[in-house]
Amino acid sequence: MDSYRGARTALIVGAGVAGLTAAAALARGGWQVEIVEIGPPEAPSGWGLCLTGPALRALGELGLADACLAEGYGMSTITHVDVNGEPVGEVQLPRLIGARRPAMAGIARPVLHRILHAEAERCGVVVRHGVTVAAVDQEGELVCARLSDGTGRRVALLVGADGIRSSVRGLLGLETSLDFHGQMVWRALVPRPLWATGIHQFAGKAGTAGLIPLSRRQAYVFLTENAVEQSVLPDTELAPRLRQLLESFPGRVEEIRSLVSESDSVVRRPVLTALLGGAWSRGNGVVIGDAAHAPAPQMASGAALAVEDGLVLAQELGRHESVGAGLQAFVSRRTQRCRTLVETSVEIAVLEQAQRHHEAYPLAGSCHRLMAEAA
Ligand SMILES: Cc1cc2nc3c(=O)[nH]c(=O)nc-3n(C[C@H](O)[C@H](O)[C@H](O)COP(=O)(O)OP(=O)(O)OC[C@H]3O[C@@H](n4cnc5c(N)ncnc54)[C@H](O)[C@@H]3O)c2cc1C
Repeated sequence: MDSYRGARTALIVGAGVAGLTAAAALARGGWQVEIVEIGPPEAPSGWGLCLTGPALRALGELGLADACLAEGYGMSTITHVDVNGEPVGEVQLPRLIGARRPAMAGIARPVLHRILHAEAERCGVVVRHGVTVAAVDQEGELVCARLSDGTGRRVALLVGADGIRSSVRGLLGLETSLDFHGQMVWRALVPRPLWATGIHQFAGKAGTAGLIPLSRRQAYVFLTENAVEQSVLPDTELAPRLRQLLESFPGRVEEIRSLVSESDSVVRRPVLTALLGGAWSRGNGVVIGDAAHAPAPQMASGAALAVEDGLVLAQELGRHESVGAGLQAFVSRRTQRCRTLVETSVEIAVLEQAQRHHEAYPLAGSCHRLMAEAA
């Protein structure tokens, strides 16, 4: 216990959305925080993501929602378009940071990363790149971590925020499967068409496509390819293949298709999910973000859960006398919400593949309303 009150030291593994927000929130609560990140210091490149209402609300608690809105693109509607290219409905998402402010924001990943990184460093967090954790032992009230650079740390708290393929999860003895759902998801950065002022989602015969604005100038196209095996295509084939897949969509997708260029901004990834069914923590170690619960991208809410995790973790550790009690309270507060999101995202992936879009849209809408409730 005195290791907690006396030396509130935390080692976080992974400087992604979950790791950086947890680091900033813990540092604000008086913790001394170090992050080890396996990747290089350069911000992640590539596509963007949509920060839904819960993500903006949680970022607002860290004072970062305005920066995300200023550098991203604020919006409030999702327009659904049927297989004939006809709009079939418009969903207004809940405005969780005020009636006059947008419900969500599209933002380029490197921009979000820069904002989170700057805030963590401003709060005194030390971020080390090119380093990971090789071994972990619980010694009384402390966690002893051996790092890949040969050094070691003895800390009151170890946080695995190292994504869906988390190594910390294994080091803590927490196991889960990675589930593939027969879909590959494509993303490509394109210039934002002037009409794209919200999310557009187009139902297709072989998949689902869409457009999400990221700034006044930029948007990203997404496409979910159904009934495929997991595979890797050579980079040179990505843009031509994406343009080919977009050919089957009518209407505005034809215009979007012409914007997909040969640039290196096209990515293709399997739709994978993970969900820890049992414990998320062992001793004074815990996993958060995608390492504990990675939804399919259909709900565009994995980052929202990751930011919320960081905040709630710091809140519960601040409320409890010991790290163990804080971690238990954190996990019990998060389990059901994260499970609902992951399971709903999988259900939507299944409905999409069965061409049951008319059932998928209301399911997504009701899950967004549920997620609007306090974390
Ligand atoms: C195609 C796609 C589209 C998506 N779109 C959206 C969206 O629009 N909106 C949304 O909210 N969510 C979206 N998501 C989900 C979202 O990206 C994730 O839920 C979110 O990034 C999870 O954050 P995280 O910090 O837990 O993990 P990550 O962002 O994966 O970060 C993990 C970090 O840990 C580092 N790391 C990994 N292993 C180690 C190690 N052994 N040691 C040290 N460091 C390590 C990684 O380099 C990385 O920096 C999408 C996901 C995909 C795949």
